[in-house]
Amino acid sequence: MKCRLGILALFLCGCSGDANPGRPNIILISVDTLRADHLGCYDYGRDTSPFLDSLAADGVVFENAFAQSSWTLASHMSLFTARYPHNHGVETPSRSLSANVPTLTEILKTHGYHTFGFVTWAFLESAYGFGRGFDLYRQFVPAPDKRDVEHAEHVTRADQAVDAILEGLGDGVRSPFFLFAHLFDPHLDYAPPAEHVRRFDPQASEDLTLGMHTTLQPYILPIHEEPERIPPAMLQRVTALYDGEIHFTDTQLARLFEALRKRDMLEDTLIVVTSDHGEELDDHGSMEGHGWTLYDEILHVPLIVKFPDNSHAGTRIQTIVEGIDIAPTILEFAGIEAPGSFDGKSLLAFLDPTAAPSEGRTFSSSERFLSRWSVRTERYKLIRSQRKTPRLPYEPPPFEFFDLAVDPGENLNLYGTRNPQIRVLQAYLDAWISTRRQDVATEKMELDEAQRNRLRALGYSDED
Ligand SMILES: [Zn+2]
Repeated sequence: MKCRLGILALFLCGCSGDANPGRPNIILISVDTLRADHLGCYDYGRDTSPFLDSLAADGVVFENAFAQSSWTLASHMSLFTARYPHNHGVETPSRSLSANVPTLTEILKTHGYHTFGFVTWAFLESAYGFGRGFDLYRQFVPAPDKRDVEHAEHVTRADQAVDAILEGLGDGVRSPFFLFAHLFDPHLDYAPPAEHVRRFDPQASEDLTLGMHTTLQPYILPIHEEPERIPPAMLQRVTALYDGEIHFTDTQLARLFEALRKRDMLEDTLIVVTSDHGEELDDHGSMEGHGWTLYDEILHVPLIVKFPDNSHAGTRIQTIVEGIDIAPTILEFAGIEAPGSFDGKSLLAFLDPTAAPSEGRTFSSSERFLSRWSVRTERYKLIRSQRKTPRLPYEPPPFEFFDLAVDPGENLNLYGTRNPQIRVLQAYLDAWISTRRQDVATEKMELDEAQRNRLRALGYSDED
């Protein structure tokens, strides 16, 4: 630790000849597994997120932001490369980012930013390419043999992560800086500290096994072809635990930002809060769900952008936007030209009230367990699925089509009907899939035996 702090002190006080104090500071927060519709500022009925709601009131809320994938690694890689998953290629746990694909952090670094990253799960490890461009990249992740989701006690909680971030940043950092923080708490296991357990379920017992992966396993689809349906009373209690995790995370974010404010780190600072994917709480007959479905409860994520001086405060944008748009937005705000390798576009144009409304469209995919691709417009959604893992007992429908105006829960598959929009979305999806770049040469990850065994147990082959 001493050594780490010593190195940190060197560049906090040392020379960085190309530093540009004229550029804004940037804070990017990713709260893992955070459904947009479970936050107050997205009209949730429970008061889960007073701090994020206040940030949203001072900033811009993108009401229809969608993640590019349904799981941590692929989605975060899209965030950092501004590329769709098939264009960054890190679509399975055994692939890492090609050295040819620039990351947001690397670009900021070359423009004089001091860069700090703090992450709390293995799929954000530096070895995947996430650490590139960071002056300090601290990984609070469980050891390889302790990464099963039921090992809640090995995961770094938000309070511990915030302590570590504040310690890592020291008394303050030089501008301009880029701070990325990833918090894991709303992810399974749902086991928040006691006061947050009871916040939404006053009758909750101290026994936290209810929200554990091991307890919920019978209700998780890919593990069982026909999972048991979670009893309604149990779902209610488990949802209260998930919401308790969100509330706990929110209180810790409030603590983090108050400490940053005292260190003058919120002056001239752009703040972006988002998530890598949501969570299924029996919406489609299963718990968890992220990793293998592409329904809205998994892809619809919060996106809150607070500008310095609270400009545009209270603005709510309806247009569909994507996770890959975040990096270009940050770069444009920082006055840095985005590279041609980006698939995403800057969202700043949406803040011009005279701008013509544009038709939004979002594409997502997952190569975990199943191959899945989706396209969503404001009103319609098409999902294509293909079985990938022979061991997986679940056979998905090859196509699903939903009219979200009458079926926002995506329960009535209209594929095969005469709705003319099916062909339209099919054409969008086919064209998008065919845009796969030719320069995606991912690296094979060096995995140890424990990691390989775990992936095999999940149904991956060594070549995935
Ligand atoms: Zn995740």
